[in-house]
Amino acid sequence: MDVVKINIDTAAPAFPEASILIIYTGGTVGMVYDEKHHLIPFNFSQIQEKVPELGNFKYLLTVLSIEPAIDSSNVSPEDWLLMAKLIEENYANHDGFVVLHGTDTMAYSASALSYLLEDLDKPVIFTGAQVPIGRTRTDARANLISALQIAATKINGRSVVPEVCIYFHNLLIRGNRAKKVESRHFNAFKSENYPLLAKAGISIDFYDGAILPHPQLSLKVHRQLDNRMAILKLFPGITPQVVRSILEAPGLRGVVLETFGAGNAPTSAWLLELLQSAVHRGIYILNVSQCDEGRVDQGRYETSKHLLNMGIIGGADITTEAAITKLMFVLGQELDHEQTIRLLGGNLRGEVSL
Ligand code: ASP
Repeated sequence: MDVVKINIDTAAPAFPEASILIIYTGGTVGMVYDEKHHLIPFNFSQIQEKVPELGNFKYLLTVLSIEPAIDSSNVSPEDWLLMAKLIEENYANHDGFVVLHGTDTMAYSASALSYLLEDLDKPVIFTGAQVPIGRTRTDARANLISALQIAATKINGRSVVPEVCIYFHNLLIRGNRAKKVESRHFNAFKSENYPLLAKAGISIDFYDGAILPHPQLSLKVHRQLDNRMAILKLFPGITPQVVRSILEAPGLRGVVLETFGAGNAPTSAWLLELLQSAVHRGIYILNVSQCDEGRVDQGRYETSKHLLNMGIIGGADITTEAAITKLMFVLGQELDHEQTIRLLGGNLRGEVSL
């Protein structure tokens, strides 16, 4: 992976209103058609040609491109650490950050960044597009323009949204509450179990009560993620062989257990034994509901009481994307058992309502 600074054609304003760093990672947003009608990554230095409105802004724009540009299905924890590092290195001299990213895994990346950037006091806005920037009906232009505006918005000299967010199709969503729900239409993301942070119409309306407060401490960027994790999605009829192959995977450190309803699981003896044995071997299991709305409430039903008793951690209303990245982040810190349990069951960046 290389980081390349792209010189864009927009003239720098004499008196910039804000200084924004754009980090371009790839995805549909940055694609154009070549003469053979294949989608290829767009030459970002020509951004103003595709988005002439950029010339209307009085923003100082800097673009860093992570190369090669990737389809976000290929994103990895190393990419997240690199994005966090780029934000850290450019934090002091920028007012906000816009990350251009494929939509497929944007909710994972935004969740991971939310954990890596502790005490963030500036906006980090992920955005992308469903239709490539090179096409007439692209949504890239509108998404990018509003994301830049949100990243630049301040009140009394402070950013309005000091959070990692996803801006897409008029909605500003906390990054670790976002879920990709559409692969065809423009409304690709929804906010799960949490209100919107802002909505763009004729103006951009920010919902202050939903936005995280400004931190008291300065930014701390974390540098470790542990990806020895698994997601185990239960279904009626799941076999011991499948569950065992996951829970006994060599080196496994954490599991997101996707359960039914309010955190319920079958009470078959073999399943409970396999789960209990995993917990005894030091594997951290976070119970997350398969329902899009609602929350895990371990102990409410008999079918979740056993999970609670054996030391499985209730994930409350967290999304799977935020849960798997939370495991990577917390276990990456190599804390003692009590602290690990406390962080996994707690609210780190607004990803759960407790
Ligand atoms: N496959 C693309 C990606 O996630 C889809 C997109 O950008 O919307 O990179």
